Amino acid sequence: MLEPAAPQLEPAFDAANQRVHVITHGCQMNVYDTHRILQVLGAAGWVETSDPTLADLVLVNSCSVRDRPEKKIIGTLSRMLPLKEAHPGLRFGVCGCVAQQHGESLLKKVPYIDIVFGPDRIADLPEIIAENRTGRRVAMTELDDPSDHAFLPVDPTVETGPSAFLTIMKGCDRFCSYCIVPYVRGRQVSKPAAVVVAEVESLVRVGVREVTLLGQNVNAYGKDRAGEPSFADLLARVAAVVGLYRVRFVTSHPADADDAMLDMFGSLPSLAKGLHLPVQSGSDSVLFRMRRGYDVARYMDRLARVRRACPGIALSSDIIVGYPGETPEDFEATMSLVQAAHFDSLFSFKYSPRPGTAAAKVKDDVPETEKAARLARVQSLQDSISARRMNGYLGSEEVVLVEGPSRFARVGGRGKLRTEVQGRTSTNVMVNFGIDRVAAEARGRLVRVRIDEVLSHSLRGTVISWEAD
Ligand code: SF4
Repeated sequence: MLEPAAPQLEPAFDAANQRVHVITHGCQMNVYDTHRILQVLGAAGWVETSDPTLADLVLVNSCSVRDRPEKKIIGTLSRMLPLKEAHPGLRFGVCGCVAQQHGESLLKKVPYIDIVFGPDRIADLPEIIAENRTGRRVAMTELDDPSDHAFLPVDPTVETGPSAFLTIMKGCDRFCSYCIVPYVRGRQVSKPAAVVVAEVESLVRVGVREVTLLGQNVNAYGKDRAGEPSFADLLARVAAVVGLYRVRFVTSHPADADDAMLDMFGSLPSLAKGLHLPVQSGSDSVLFRMRRGYDVARYMDRLARVRRACPGIALSSDIIVGYPGETPEDFEATMSLVQAAHFDSLFSFKYSPRPGTAAAKVKDDVPETEKAARLARVQSLQDSISARRMNGYLGSEEVVLVEGPSRFARVGGRGKLRTEVQGRTSTNVMVNFGIDRVAAEARGRLVRVRIDEVLSHSLRGTVISWEAD
């Protein structure tokens, strides 16, 4: 009898000095997850490369919020297929929301994807890669049980600038009709407040001066965990960390935006003067069908309250046009809301169904041409409002947190040191200005700047004084 042939295994995989290139689509949560992926792989010996031609693994951290996300992933990776031919050891992976949503079917559909994993499986990535290197294509997308989800600890050593993101919760319990997030990120789980504060302190110790707290619905923070403080109380605890200059947060939900949280903008000096409060529609009937849990009156009351607490606060929002059943009258109501709200900026999109959501079961009945026309109208209105808001900065004095050299950085000139740097106002507008020191000395410092020029999305100014550290 013949002996069975020995299985042809690849040599044992050694992660040391393997290189990973990550392409990140979507929101800050995905940017944050990319940091965690690099942290996990870094601990296993991998190094990041910004050059995909040098990579042993290319990962696409995907987003399913926008239209045709699968197509975007396939387009990105298919353009890189020649790299696989040149380097047979190269692997392609997909993670993030699309990976979570489609799982193994992505492997079936796209033969050149080697691994697929969901946001809750980031910590398992070294094992997923090792399994793939034995010759198997691997999909791992189990969501954690909310009762025992473990957040990956923050690694402050990977932070290189004065601003950092910090996740304070995962998932969402709201189930807005059009949104895929509760299905791909799971139910809400809040990170314990003591851990959040300790992580902020560890970031401050390495030079971080501004933290953006992240969650799908930060206003519901703590509601899933007995004994945890409310979001307003968490803000107060984070703002009290010595050495932290600014706190920001995204994303808020108008139904959960309570008075205590809104009033914090008037009482916490380090709470940055900016609030993103997505409204989605100016029609009560559309809001009801979107299952948003508030009406226009409640929304406008939230804006009025936060403006009373913090005059001059920058407000931004999201709008979806062409939701199923949106009539011309519904859309005019949205236009009226945008006119009245006077947002500093607005992110507006045409509705498109996400498979698996409640809204996807309803006929997508607003024609594409009508959606496009409505989008153009709302964007044109907002452009004129945003321009007026930006012009309001001319001649004002703003305190800017310096991030580093500007895109047009220059050093020296006529024997005198002159560096172009950039940073953000408390209202989150980018300001470019010249300083008489090197950028590294200025990074992470607060500087008072007079605004001399308003550009479409940024400002230019002149230093008045450096704030004391
Ligand atoms: S609150 Fe936000 S993340 Fe949660 S379901 Fe609604 S839109 Fe999606």
